[in-house]
Amino acid sequence: MISLGIESTAHTFGIGIINEKGNVLYNKKSVYKPPLGVGIHPRKAAQNHFINSTKIIKDVLKTHKMKKIDVISFSMGPGLPKCLQVGSSIARFLSLKYKKPLIGVNHCIAHIEIGKIMTKCKDPIIVYCSGGNTQTIALTENKYRIFGETEDIALGNAFDVLARNMGFKNPGGPEIEKCAKKGKWIDLPYVIKGMDLSFSGIVTECIKKYREGMKKEDICFSFQETVFAMLTEVTERAMAHTDKKNVLITGGVAASQRLRKMMNIMCKEREGKCYVVPKEFAGDNGLMIAWNGLLVYKSGQTTRIKDSQIIKDWRTDEVDVNWL
Ligand code: AMP
Ligand code: MG
Repeated sequence: MISLGIESTAHTFGIGIINEKGNVLYNKKSVYKPPLGVGIHPRKAAQNHFINSTKIIKDVLKTHKMKKIDVISFSMGPGLPKCLQVGSSIARFLSLKYKKPLIGVNHCIAHIEIGKIMTKCKDPIIVYCSGGNTQTIALTENKYRIFGETEDIALGNAFDVLARNMGFKNPGGPEIEKCAKKGKWIDLPYVIKGMDLSFSGIVTECIKKYREGMKKEDICFSFQETVFAMLTEVTERAMAHTDKKNVLITGGVAASQRLRKMMNIMCKEREGKCYVVPKEFAGDNGLMIAWNGLLVYKSGQTTRIKDSQIIKDWRTDEVDVNWL
C-alpha cells in the first residue's frame, strides 16, 4: 500500500510518498522564509505555497505513477487557514481526478507517528515542540492525551521571536544555538504552571536585557538552558506519572543538540531512553502526512469530500487513535 501526503499548515508546502513498510519513496518541500525582522505572514505564506506547489506537483506526477498510489492524505489542521486551504484543495482535486480515497490528517499526530516509525521507539512520552506547538503527550486509551502544553507561544516560535529581535535570520532556533555556545549564565524567569509552560514572558525579559546592552551570547545561552530545563522538568513528571520509560522528541525544535542532551541525561537517570526524530523528518514535511494517512486508511477510515474542510484548531487529543 502506498500513500501520498500533502503538508501546508504554515511555512512549509511539501509532498511525500511512503509505503506500508515506512520506505520513503518521495519527499520534497518548499519553505516560505519571511523577510528579515518579521514573522510568517499567513497570506504571503499561502501565496508562496500556491506558486511552489505547482513545481512539486509537476515533479511528483512526472516521477510517480498515480495508479500506484492507494490513498491521498493531507494536513487538515491545526494550522493557518489560508495555508491549510492550499494543501486541502490540491488533495481534493487529486482524490477526485484519480479516484483515490482521501484522508484528512491531524498535523500534530503526524509529527508523532513519523517519529515513532523512524525511531522504532515503543510507548514513549512524546515531547512535541515545533514552531507552532509545544505539548507533552502520552497515548492512553486510544487518545494522544496532552499532559502539559504551552499557555502562550510555542517553543520554536519563542526562539524565532527572540532571534528576530536580536537581528538573527529566520528560523531563529539554529542561530540561537550557535550563539549560545560562547555564552555564560544569567538568571531568567522560569515559568511552569502545573504541567503547563509559558515562554512569552521569558522572551520579553531577554529582549529587554538585549536592549539594555547585555551580551547576545549570554542571553542565548541562558534562554536555551532555561526553556529546555522547563520542558525537561515537565517531561520527567509525565514519565513518573505514567510509569513510561522512553521519550520521543519530535517537531522542528528536536534539531537542537542541547535539548537532546538534557533529555538524554534525564532519561538515563530514570533508566529509560530518549529517541529523536531524524532531522529530515523533524520539521514539517509531506512524508509524515502520507504515513499517518496510511495508518488511518488501514484502520478502515476515510474522509468524505464533504467532510474534508480544514479544522484550524484541531487538537491532538480530539482524534480517536484506532490504528495501533
Ligand atoms: P516546525 O514548525 O516543526 O517546522 O519547526 C520549526 C521550528 O523549529 C522553528 O521555530 C525553529 O526555530 C525551530 N528550531 C529548529 N532548529 C532549532 C534548534 N537548533 N534549536 C531550537 N529551535 C530550533
Ligand atoms: Mg509542525
